[in-house]
Amino acid sequence: MTPNMNMNITKDDVAAVACNCGCDIFSLLYKLGRVNSFKSPTGKETYIHMPVYVCASCGEVMDTTKEQKTPEKETPSPIITK
Ligand SMILES: [Zn+2]
Repeated sequence: MTPNMNMNITKDDVAAVACNCGCDIFSLLYKLGRVNSFKSPTGKETYIHMPVYVCASCGEVMDTTKEQKTPEKETPSPIITK
């Protein structure tokens, strides 16, 4: 099943993503990867960049390539005080 990328996404369809620290603001940075010349389609060693999102508060990298676990609670509270 291929999801239709052109479908209209409404605000209700967007789940908020937050860092473990609770911050939901991220900077877009790039990871660089090097492709070996014999693996590269051009036959030359080449570099590719992969966008990564870094938490604006603590600097933790949000790995969007991993499967995101859907939190059971709507508002997870990272700090639990007994
Ligand atoms: Zn953070």
